Amino acid sequence: MCENNPVRFIDAFVDGLDLDALGFKRVKPKATGRPGYDPSDMLKLYIYGYLNRVRSSRRLEAETHRNLEVIWLMRQLKPDFKTIADFRKANRTAFREVFRSFVRLCRELDLYGRELLAVDGTRIKAVNNKDRNFTKASLKRDLARLDERLERYLKDMSEADTRDDDGPGGDASAKKLTEKIETMKARRERLAGYQKTLEETGEDQLSLTDPDARAMERNTRVGVGYNIQIAVDAKHKLIAEQQVHNKVSDLGLLTETADAARKTLGVETLDVVADKGYFVIEDVEACEAAGAIPFVPKPQRGSAASKGFFVKDRFRYDAKANHYTCPGGQELTQQGGKRVVRKGVHVIGYQNRRACKNCPLKASCTDAAFRKVTRYEREEVLDRMAERLADRPEILDARRETVEHPFGSIKQWMGQGAFLMKRLDNVRGEFSLTALAYNIRRAITLVGIPTLIDAARA
Ligand code: SF4
Repeated sequence: MCENNPVRFIDAFVDGLDLDALGFKRVKPKATGRPGYDPSDMLKLYIYGYLNRVRSSRRLEAETHRNLEVIWLMRQLKPDFKTIADFRKANRTAFREVFRSFVRLCRELDLYGRELLAVDGTRIKAVNNKDRNFTKASLKRDLARLDERLERYLKDMSEADTRDDDGPGGDASAKKLTEKIETMKARRERLAGYQKTLEETGEDQLSLTDPDARAMERNTRVGVGYNIQIAVDAKHKLIAEQQVHNKVSDLGLLTETADAARKTLGVETLDVVADKGYFVIEDVEACEAAGAIPFVPKPQRGSAASKGFFVKDRFRYDAKANHYTCPGGQELTQQGGKRVVRKGVHVIGYQNRRACKNCPLKASCTDAAFRKVTRYEREEVLDRMAERLADRPEILDARRETVEHPFGSIKQWMGQGAFLMKRLDNVRGEFSLTALAYNIRRAITLVGIPTLIDAARA
């Protein structure tokens, strides 16, 4: 096998890992009495497969018989597809640690800048089809439609009975109608059952094929999948951390990804940029406290923005005096105590009823009797972030450039259009291998195979 073949690196890399410490388990082949395969051989097979767009266990088995690179890598071992599939299932959580081991190896090679991370999310399709996913809203809508159609058909049926239609084809059309009604009744019963399940479990959605998959929106298109979060280092666009969730939005997912990346990269602090979909005060605060200094632009949410009134940015807060100055130059002072809006998050209201009453700008400010501005109890964390962003507006362009490369590569070049496995833990294992394969490809391009092999053996 030539020195520059990626299988040489896979071999050296896996041999250098302490697989017991990473949590790998031995899998037993189908025939009883034989010892299980060494996890290192099976792991090498999977890394090779994900690097070469061969992800299914049946195809991997086929490669062990006909692909010279795989035959060399596997030392002519030929596990059957069931054993290969079982290995992936049994070791799904350990793959993340292999991914992190490779991040550390690249860190030693100085491939991570360790100064700026871009965090972003995308949806990757689950095994579950859209028509096998039900939300509370879709069930309510479908049941209402069914009831309406049923009523119409039953009315047609009773009219036919009244006419006592025994003309040509009369019996046949009555039979057809009866069959349609029965089918609709059966579907209605099924949907009502799903509705009951959602009520009992308190879940928002029900997916029949993969119960963990969720319908979620990305770029205005809704599909059933998983929410993939990655933290990408700005220096060479290598992934520093990856997480898979079935939460439909990115809100609240920043710290978990950014802080895990910071720890693997071995730095006290670094900067983290993300889009406005991550803007939520408790996550911003936690991220900053963890040493991952966030840069997240503020979205214009709320009724004032949607109605076209002055947005909150037009109101200046004076921390010393604890009041806001509104666009009309009036002081809005604190009224009442703090109010809980979410667990651990409080807001305080500011207003000046008298000033609003005769204000010439009122039509641009509010349609109520007076304008009220709310402030989070610890909103200074958002003020600090706004100042950082004002000092470095170019960081938002860096975010886009940094995350586009891995997501583009993973989805198109690597053929990762959909997951093969069901359930969140299995999908997490799958994506760890995908992200590892992306990083290996990228590192090969950056430093070449001999350098990677030396680093793996060091
Ligand atoms: S309506 Fe009230 S808050 Fe708005 S600009 Fe006028 S005085 Fe200020």
